[in-house]
Amino acid sequence: MDNRKWRQLEREIANCRKCDLWKTRNNPVIGEGSKDARIMFIGEAPGYWEDIKGRPFVGKAGKIFDELLQSIDLRREEVYIANVLKCRPPNNRNPFQNEIDACTPYLDQQIELIHPRIIATLGNFALSYISKKFGLKQESIGQSHGKIFKIKTLFGDLIIIPLYHPAAAVYNPLLKKTLLEDIAVVKRLL
Ligand code: URA
Ligand code: SF4
Repeated sequence: MDNRKWRQLEREIANCRKCDLWKTRNNPVIGEGSKDARIMFIGEAPGYWEDIKGRPFVGKAGKIFDELLQSIDLRREEVYIANVLKCRPPNNRNPFQNEIDACTPYLDQQIELIHPRIIATLGNFALSYISKKFGLKQESIGQSHGKIFKIKTLFGDLIIIPLYHPAAAVYNPLLKKTLLEDIAVVKRLL
């Protein structure tokens, strides 16, 4: 953990105007959790409540996310939670590619600073970005959820586990069951 670099990153995001989303956001959602986490979860972008509170996964999807963590005996303080975009897209629309390009250098820095052993992606946008970044074949979440991808990086071995987005399970009990099964894989790896 490098406090100086973290503070600088947090300042940069708080003042960021690299895409238009700063105009409509209330608060950026930088991320939270342990900066020494062995596992990092990456979602898509802040939603309504995240934008109001400035914290990741605190709305309906957050409730499911908390259940997932609980099911493998992890507490929020033990993991790090970030998103592809740090500011909420209006009406929770999908991120635009130019927004992803502008914002992901921040996520890259977070990954570098935390140096997790495991990255669990939540939903398609995180999966797609992380696959590109680490040279994985682009697969849909339907194909790759719950699978384990082992990557060799300059900084050591990294495991990537694609998961469905918790928001998709809010009104879909079957998908929630799948999420619970998939995240059980994480427990075995920790
Ligand atoms: N959905 C996300 O992708 N991230 C959040 O932080 C909340 C909801
Ligand atoms: Fe900056 Fe990212 Fe917010 Fe766009 S979404 S303004 S790039 S912090």
